[in-house]
Amino acid sequence: MICIVCGKEFIPRNRGGMPQKVCSSECKKIRIRELNKINYQRKIEQKKDYNKLYQTKKRVRKQMPKSTSKSLTELQKQAQSRGLSYGQYVAMTEGSRPDGV
Ligand SMILES: [Zn+2]
Repeated sequence: MICIVCGKEFIPRNRGGMPQKVCSSECKKIRIRELNKINYQRKIEQKKDYNKLYQTKKRVRKQMPKSTSKSLTELQKQAQSRGLSYGQYVAMTEGSRPDGV
């Protein structure tokens, strides 16, 4: 058996339970520290992604009232020209915004 921390060959002591992957308790400590680091970094990455997602959502929400309050009648006209109700039109533009309004 090769230690996954220091690469030294060792004879695993079989005590039952998890198979031994490190040669000594020292290497085990290092291994645990490394695993924790990886988990920690992974958590940070996930948090970053989540924050990014949350921020873009927030930005979109912030922009929404501006564009709608800009000209409510304008939107109603646009909705009518498409044969939609105002609510339907707003729901549509909120989703994909095909005109880039
Ligand atoms: Zn080792």
